[in-house]
Amino acid sequence: MENLFMKFMAQNKALAQQINLLNSKLGTMQLAAANTQIGSCDLCEIQGHTSDACAMIQDLASPEQVNYMGNGPR
Ligand SMILES: [Zn+2]
Repeated sequence: MENLFMKFMAQNKALAQQINLLNSKLGTMQLAAANTQIGSCDLCEIQGHTSDACAMIQDLASPEQVNYMGNGPR
């Protein structure tokens, strides 16, 4: 029975490694979320602003830029 378990574990070693990788990625994501809460950006990784206040998002959501692209120079 124990032998069978060892065999199973050996066969699933690759799977276990993937799970470990996934777990470490999740840990990194949780760290990033925690950093966001204390004012570190998730998008450009610059501290001092949250990802909500990131210039990258504000560039995308800027109404001026939308108007400029919508109207164009006349
Ligand atoms: Zn940013």
